[in-house]
Amino acid sequence: MFRKRLFIILTSLMITLLIYPEATDEGASALENGLVYTNLLLNNEIEEDSKPSSKDKVDAVFIMDDGWKTQYTQGYRILNKYGFKGCIGIIPVSVGEKNYMTYKEISDLYSQGWSIVNHSYNHFESHKNVSEEVKDIELAKEWMDSRLLKNGSNVYIAPYGRIKEGTIKELKDKGYHSIRTVEEIIVFNDNYEDRKYKIINLTTDRRSEDVITEIDECINEGRDIIFLNHKFGEEDDGEGMTYKVSEFEKIVKYIKSRENHIEVRTYSEYINKK
Ligand SMILES: [Zn+2]
Repeated sequence: MFRKRLFIILTSLMITLLIYPEATDEGASALENGLVYTNLLLNNEIEEDSKPSSKDKVDAVFIMDDGWKTQYTQGYRILNKYGFKGCIGIIPVSVGEKNYMTYKEISDLYSQGWSIVNHSYNHFESHKNVSEEVKDIELAKEWMDSRLLKNGSNVYIAPYGRIKEGTIKELKDKGYHSIRTVEEIIVFNDNYEDRKYKIINLTTDRRSEDVITEIDECINEGRDIIFLNHKFGEEDDGEGMTYKVSEFEKIVKYIKSRENHIEVRTYSEYINKK
């Protein structure tokens, strides 16, 4: 096992130094990228496993869309502080751009067991037809697969939470695992409709006290909770997509205090749960 790992480390370092794809992460040296790459190779050796189900608990899942930088500096920081893991829906075209996470940060989360999933290549608003949409999604999948972010490349989160019926059908035919919109999660080849869950979109206007009331209701009703987040910060960006860090921490802290009733899972663990 050790020799195999050593072989992987040395080989991948050599390969990376020679052919690593150009500038996925501005400022990172080839050696740094090599280490990230090695880490991912080792991580990809490990089979994804879902936690055993705990029947009397509801699940909570934290999903962060778009791969904003503050999801790493704040969202990850807070979840990690309470021992939880989340999910990032990435847009390859934005990776490493201003205000977005770098490839290195994304791989860091991936290596720690976070779900990194496909949120389309260009975050398209409305394409003319289904085939253009599917092409964009496939492009993101290829980007992820070629950079060892494989586990969630066929787990799709629709930009703006919207999706065409035709695109759903195409993705199913192409063997995608699942789709998430703003209202629902569609898991192909699974009797998923039986699950009871509520998607709570943490937009700027949501007060933590109200969210905590909703969490209690979900526990009482036996409904799982899917949190959606975009940016974290103190200032309202005018789009309602920035959530106050202190409010987020209150929610996470509350969930920690209700651990006898809530199981926090990554999105992959959740959708793969039997
Ligand atoms: Zn988005």
